[in-house]
Amino acid sequence: MAELCGTLLRWSIRRYKLARWILGALPAKNLCMDPHPPVPTRGIPLRLATHTEDSLSENEITRSNYQFVYRSGWHARHPKSEQTLKAPVPFVVIHHSYHPKACYDKDDCRNAMKSMQDFHMDVRGWADIGYNFGIGSDGVVYEGRGWNVLGAHALHFNTVSIGICLIGDWIETVPPSVQLQSAKALIAHGVKKGHIMPKYKLVGHRQVRDTECPGEALYKVIQKWSHYAPFPRTYRDLKNVTEIPAYIRESLED
Ligand SMILES: [Zn+2]
Repeated sequence: MAELCGTLLRWSIRRYKLARWILGALPAKNLCMDPHPPVPTRGIPLRLATHTEDSLSENEITRSNYQFVYRSGWHARHPKSEQTLKAPVPFVVIHHSYHPKACYDKDDCRNAMKSMQDFHMDVRGWADIGYNFGIGSDGVVYEGRGWNVLGAHALHFNTVSIGICLIGDWIETVPPSVQLQSAKALIAHGVKKGHIMPKYKLVGHRQVRDTECPGEALYKVIQKWSHYAPFPRTYRDLKNVTEIPAYIRESLED
């Protein structure tokens, strides 16, 4: 019996040594002591995907999840008439409102949109609020005439552009960063959806009309944006802007 036990013990020791030798020869990553636990397939948040989305949302070029308020959200009046804007447009025109002043929450910005619409329709006699979009200092974008309707924001230039108004007086102070970022995001979205040409040119209202709009401080900001175009320099250059339809350019000849 003692001899049998001794044989079994020696056999077990040899097996143990053999197992140690085999395990020691294996690459560490194949051992169960791998410090990275297996990833459960259910019941955990997809951290990598979430992180990727967060990274994209911080990118001004790809971000298109800006807050947006449709016309019904600011109780817009019905337009008196509408004309289709031919897309994609080659220009984006940046405006400021000067008056009303900057708005920082949805109530104030709704009122700003309404007051601009009333002024444009009742005093100017236009069909609707002139701009395609308004943007508040809270970074919220408000639908004006929208992407597909011809605007009334830049005389002789409406057929070739989308007009974006950064609500506020930006002569001496610049808009908050969130308002500028939403303007860029809105333009990027317009390009992505085929409303604006990928090689669009961005101008300030003063480049196509005799006006101080979009305010000296904001104008200095947009001159640093990648699509800013120095031509046309003033409204006197409009007759040489080839993107403008010939019938409009001919009407400008003196
Ligand atoms: Zn303007």
